[in-house]
Amino acid sequence: MGLHDTLHALFLVDQQVRGLQSRLDSAAQLVRTQNAKIDQRTRQRDEIADRLKHTQATAANFENEANAAEERIEKLRQQMNTATTNKEYSAFLLEMNTLKVEKGKVEEQALEELTRADALKADLDEHEAKLTEQQRIRERAETELAERKADVSGRLEELKAERAEAAEKVPSNALAVFDRLLNMFDDDPMAPVIETDRRRLEYNCGGCYMQIPIERVNQLATQDEVVQCPSCQRMLYLEAELRESMGIKSNS
Ligand SMILES: [Zn+2]
Repeated sequence: MGLHDTLHALFLVDQQVRGLQSRLDSAAQLVRTQNAKIDQRTRQRDEIADRLKHTQATAANFENEANAAEERIEKLRQQMNTATTNKEYSAFLLEMNTLKVEKGKVEEQALEELTRADALKADLDEHEAKLTEQQRIRERAETELAERKADVSGRLEELKAERAEAAEKVPSNALAVFDRLLNMFDDDPMAPVIETDRRRLEYNCGGCYMQIPIERVNQLATQDEVVQCPSCQRMLYLEAELRESMGIKSNS
């Protein structure tokens, strides 16, 4: 096989490798995206749970204070019953009234905290539900990835071996150009020549669709060397059909 044929053979098997690999990559990317979303939602959930815990603790403190005040009020009530002088009675009464005002305040604060806790609890439930849904989505993504792996892994290994074999047949300088273009485009490093008008000798690159000078097409048809598109640098090849119609003998 000549250079063009070995390059083209490599191109074809490489395309298949990239096709299968991208199916795996996109499925793996989906799992990673879902993991990131779950991490974010988990952080938000934990933050709300923390605030809820804190709010509940504050509410409990206010309630304890209210209970303590109530106990003290009850005690004062008994003391008032057993007061022996008016002065004593008035002193108990004054303290009791002060305590009642204080108790009212802390009860109000407890209620405020409890209301806040209710809102946080609702928020937390909503976040939990979203998190559960997100986990379900991730599970599906993981299943999809596992299925794709099971589907294509064997074939992918075969193709990689075939690609290595095909690459071995390509001269190293041409292979270097091929690999460099592959890295550059992360897409097809080769493009077919497209005949747009034979009489006017007009040919385009099948990768970037820019016109190719006829000299390059001739070079491709007659010489065993790498020919690149002057616009996008892709390595050009002549498809069998065009080659035949141009009356070029296959050099394989
Ligand atoms: Zn091009």
